[in-house]
Amino acid sequence: MEELPASPADRHSTPVDGVDVLGALSPSRAGDFLTCPLLYRFRTVDRLPEPPSPDAVRGTLVHKVLEDIFELPAPERTPERAQELLEPSWEQICATEPELRALFGAEGPALAPWLASCRSVLERYFTLEDPRRLEPAERELYVETLLDSRLLLRGFIDRVDVAPDGAIRLVDYKTGKAPGPDYEAKALFQMKFYALVVWRARGVMPAMLQLIYLGSGEILRYVPDEQDLRATERKVEAVWRAIREAGETGDWRPNRSRLCAWCAHQAICPAYGGTPPPLPVVAEERVLVEPVQPSSD
Ligand code: SF4
Repeated sequence: MEELPASPADRHSTPVDGVDVLGALSPSRAGDFLTCPLLYRFRTVDRLPEPPSPDAVRGTLVHKVLEDIFELPAPERTPERAQELLEPSWEQICATEPELRALFGAEGPALAPWLASCRSVLERYFTLEDPRRLEPAERELYVETLLDSRLLLRGFIDRVDVAPDGAIRLVDYKTGKAPGPDYEAKALFQMKFYALVVWRARGVMPAMLQLIYLGSGEILRYVPDEQDLRATERKVEAVWRAIREAGETGDWRPNRSRLCAWCAHQAICPAYGGTPPPLPVVAEERVLVEPVQPSSD
């Protein structure tokens, strides 16, 4: 029997974690593309290194302490114990990434005030929640689901709480400040993305999405519904189509915004007079499969 020609979808499919998919997308990278297609290219296709910043490393350290504190028996999850965990956690992070020590001292900020800033962020956490009264079902949970279109959605959720009645709450910690009203929808996109993945993978709609902003001591809560998550799915599919189109045409446009101030790639960005490097030969493959890591912002 004559073999049928592969459909365009099959021709572009690729295995990811043993699953034959059209591509894989996390909320961070979808967020990159929505912020600036060229930023997505630099991070996902070129995979250009970005020097760690003290703010980013603070996020990594605080996330680690907030994860580790739940290893302790509930009565011991106090602000004092969290402070005690801080420096050993910093040493553990440096043991795997020794280059982070170089951020401090000679040319960067001194270590002691930076550690003090991490302590303040942790203190603020305890004004928002009492971890002695919480028993998370999961921490740093990797989740994935394959949409009907064979786009694989995946990511890491900081914390999943499950109430006795089975209601699921997804929690994400942010070490920065809560966004103003104009940027709330953007912040919630990540949580709706996770909610969509959990709903599709487990068949249960999360009852609550919660962003804990440790920089300003605020909590943003949102109750998703089916209409919301279906709209999120359509949005994710549209983002993916736009990414594929940019990958095929090579048209990764810069999009100047106030977020450029935090972009590590201004020097090679045409919006700032720079020239991007040539695309790598494995560009198409990298458009399809982006690396996924726990968030630490
Ligand atoms: S500097 Fe701004 S416009 Fe240029 S790549 Fe970075 S985020 Fe995009």
